[in-house]
Amino acid sequence: MEGVVVRLTLSLIGPGIMLVFGAAFAGAWAIDRRRPYLLLMALTCLLFTLGAVCQILYWPNSTGLNAMLSGALYTAAVLLAAQGILLRSDRAYPWALFPVMLAIFLMLTAYFFYVDRNLLARVYIQNFGYGLVLLAAALRLWTVPRTRPVDRILFWVLLVFALHFFPRTLLTIGFSAPVGERAFANSIFWQTLQLSLAVLGVSLALAIFAAAFSDLLDDARHDRTIDALTGTLNRHGLEEAVAARMKKPEGPTSVVLCDVDHFKRINDSHGHDVGDAVLKAIGSILRDAARQKDLIGRFGGEEFLILLSDADLKKATQCAERLRLAVASHDFPLLSESESVTASFGVAERRPGETWESLFKRADICLYAAKHAGRNRIIAG
Ligand code: GH3
Ligand code: MG
Ligand code: MG
Repeated sequence: MEGVVVRLTLSLIGPGIMLVFGAAFAGAWAIDRRRPYLLLMALTCLLFTLGAVCQILYWPNSTGLNAMLSGALYTAAVLLAAQGILLRSDRAYPWALFPVMLAIFLMLTAYFFYVDRNLLARVYIQNFGYGLVLLAAALRLWTVPRTRPVDRILFWVLLVFALHFFPRTLLTIGFSAPVGERAFANSIFWQTLQLSLAVLGVSLALAIFAAAFSDLLDDARHDRTIDALTGTLNRHGLEEAVAARMKKPEGPTSVVLCDVDHFKRINDSHGHDVGDAVLKAIGSILRDAARQKDLIGRFGGEEFLILLSDADLKKATQCAERLRLAVASHDFPLLSESESVTASFGVAERRPGETWESLFKRADICLYAAKHAGRNRIIAG
């Protein structure tokens, strides 16, 4: 009796660990719902746990129903895991495939249990089926750039996990399944299945968890440094980036300050929402018109800053002219045709050893002069 209790307790450790993973994924999703794949991962863990508990506790206590229910739960878990990993990289399969695959699995399992009682066929369907689903997911991920180590680890663990289903099943069960439940439970097939699930399954769960953790850190870093409205750097992001550039300048450094002309009028006549939409559009105009290596940020309400590397005053003035024209010629759909949006610019090049505060101040004086000179212009100094 005690042996049974120990066995039961030990066998529940795996599902217990998956449940803890599931709770962690669900918790991460509840804190920040921008990443729905976290919810899929939580569901994957829950379904896997339920499948394992059904099998371990032998509920429902009819072999056919038990195999069908636990198999359906495992299959749903594998499908959701594959879909979740793909969703994370914006490569999800159409959701309609999900019930189709599940139905195919259930029909095949029912056929090989109730019509043609064939354990070997069921073992092959389940293992090769899971291998194929995960392999398809890994191949679909092949083209996604894997820039971070966590992405590379996740890809390779997924690939190994997917591939292992084939040799493991072939090598351990061959072409005849053990007869009788006890023989099956003690078979090398069943034991290596448990071992591989424990080692590779938990490795995969850990790899997904590490990737999710790194995604959440990226989100937090993004929120800390990027202005949600315009997608340019916010004040904090600018401070960090500017400090780094000032320490390690790449050639001559220049700054361009940009202030939208009569922006208050847009807010007053169309409302704050339209004002926001205009600022958003200006953010993307500046991002499109600037060079890749330029830093762009919103440091005030309708005030933007562009820090140019490898650009002297002449180059920076040319860049400001490009930005000015891009804003002035842009068609803002929410404004009437007669209304145009323009911006004024102040440009300054850093002098040897000059501090950021002094450089910024000189550019700000130029911007002020551009406003006074009639707006929609550039003053460099
Ligand atoms: P000037 O040509 O002299 O720059 O005139 P202006 O009207 O643009 O200048 P002012 O600085 O007086 O007005 C800026 C306005 O920008 C005031 C403020 O209500 C508005 N504003 C600041 N931040 C935001 C924002 O995030 N969204 C919107 N819609 N408006 C903002
Ligand atoms: Mg202003
Ligand atoms: Mg303004």
